[in-house]
Amino acid sequence: MASIIQRYWSSLLWLPLISVAAGGDDTCALRHSPASSIVPSLYAPNSAICTVPTVGSNRSVTDVPISEQSRWIQDTQCHGFEGVQFCAYTQSSLNEGESVSLITTPERFAKLASESAFRERVDDSSSQVLSESSLPYRDVAIPGKGIGLIATRPIRAGQRIMAHRPAVMVDGRAYPGMSKENLADLLARAVEPLPPVHRDRFLNLSTHDGANGYTDLVHKIFTTNTFRTSVNDGESDFYSTFTEVSRLNHDCQPNCGYYFDHTTLSLKVIAATDISPGEELSVSYIDVLQPRSKRQGYLHTHWGFHCSCKRCTADAHLAAESDSRIAQIHRLRAELDDYSDSSTATPAKAELLVLLFELEGAAGRMHEALYRAAIEWSGVGDAARAVKYARLCLDRGLRFRGQGRPFEESMRRLLEDPEVHWSWRSRLHAGREEG
Ligand SMILES: [Zn+2]
Repeated sequence: MASIIQRYWSSLLWLPLISVAAGGDDTCALRHSPASSIVPSLYAPNSAICTVPTVGSNRSVTDVPISEQSRWIQDTQCHGFEGVQFCAYTQSSLNEGESVSLITTPERFAKLASESAFRERVDDSSSQVLSESSLPYRDVAIPGKGIGLIATRPIRAGQRIMAHRPAVMVDGRAYPGMSKENLADLLARAVEPLPPVHRDRFLNLSTHDGANGYTDLVHKIFTTNTFRTSVNDGESDFYSTFTEVSRLNHDCQPNCGYYFDHTTLSLKVIAATDISPGEELSVSYIDVLQPRSKRQGYLHTHWGFHCSCKRCTADAHLAAESDSRIAQIHRLRAELDDYSDSSTATPAKAELLVLLFELEGAAGRMHEALYRAAIEWSGVGDAARAVKYARLCLDRGLRFRGQGRPFEESMRRLLEDPEVHWSWRSRLHAGREEG
């Protein structure tokens, strides 16, 4: 057992609970910095198989039917933190082969259990209801990286590759504040009732290092493989662990993007580029729009590995050119997000930003640059080009961020009638020439 677990421990060094709150994004483990508030509508306001040891034999489980549509199991052992009780609840029939366990308060659980997201299946062709052979990827041992996912057939840019709900969700009021001992106990109680396939996938996720027993293993897996996710119930975020998604390795120029869909509580992974069979699927754990030294330092500090992606291993002069483009991106964004009369923003600078995003591996975030291009063309009164970029922004943004984000409303309004959009001819003022 030990050797098998060891193999998987080294499979992936994932997200160490970085609370880099990303504007408009519900998955906050990695991410770019929030955009300037000057762009008012782009972002939201805050935005292995192994033998499984069992939990202690004194564990007592009581069924608690919450609604006709769903069936939950509540573990009777709860733990208090700051005067609030937190318990483990498991829905083991959410999706065939998939399930979810919540660690939260009884009051919040009662509210959430009635939500449609916990009663309905994830409507996605790549969910685990499909046989392994029908998925467009498979697990493979990647030299130097442990287990990763490689494409088994051509995948087109923009195609959704997977959508999975978390295995375990921990209330943000309990983590990271609750003692490790109590949280680990609740986690063990949350993991054990998961269906065997889902539970094994959880237990085979990586940790930075070894674990001292089952409870410690579950805790380390959780802290190493967790995304911060919002369920949009007006309360604190959850910290969520996804089993399938956590097998995706990092690349500073990833071929996949992802976002958390709070309406279905699923993390969706989308191809950012065309992907050939045999190519490894990758995402970025960090903001890729940083110079090489910063990316490498951050990855090593927080995930414990030296990135060997093409961008990181490029010759010095190519790396310097990349760093130069990154600096240029930051300068351009500052200019484009300046709506004062002294702003030097132009449509050409916004279009250059689009090009630089492509060159620097930010294909999954292209809607950010396209948004600015739409605004700039509208700003100088060019409706045709404004509409063109608004359509492109919507297409990319909806694919890679989902519905309900602020950019969507702004771009739809622009499409409806550019001339009444807030940005229309906003760049044409005294001291600036039209066009
Ligand atoms: Zn890299």
